Amino acid sequence: MITRKDFEQARARAAAMMKEAGILATDKEIAGMDVADFGLGDYLVEGAQMTAFADTKRIAVKVIVLFPNQTLPEHWHSSNSPADPGKEETFRVVGGKLRLYVPGDDGVRDGFIPKGKDACYTARREIVMLPGDQLTLDPGVKHWLQGGPEGAVLYSYSSFTIDALDPFTDPDIVRVTKIIE
Ligand code: ZN
Repeated sequence: MITRKDFEQARARAAAMMKEAGILATDKEIAGMDVADFGLGDYLVEGAQMTAFADTKRIAVKVIVLFPNQTLPEHWHSSNSPADPGKEETFRVVGGKLRLYVPGDDGVRDGFIPKGKDACYTARREIVMLPGDQLTLDPGVKHWLQGGPEGAVLYSYSSFTIDALDPFTDPDIVRVTKIIE
């Protein structure tokens, strides 16, 4: 859960980072931004800010903003029906520095695993991405993201998605943000 005050503050901060990265978003798109704390209680450690520019039955275009060293927990995009292999997701960084982790054991060097959470972050191949860098993940590939020292602003282009159904490695995660008024 997150307080209304923290939620609004995070949204304003993320909107400023988007603007700084050169992304034009409407007031409506900013008002629709989700500040996810994943039910873990400290969104600045494990959390993410996300807004959708397109979210149809076929595609999704979203902007993800990560504050400095903020971590979007490990998850993957599974198949939800026989006709759907799961979400294919392309990340394109437009601001700051992104640390992306995918399966492998090369080591977490530039970034770090949130304290005490080793079991919840199994993908250990680190890919550092800067503005202009882009990468596509096949459905089902585990991944987690972390903002660099100045945070990160990135696009997520993907096939159809129902984010609330994505499995996460951490069993304590609650995907839908609860705001305390
Ligand atoms: Zn993902």
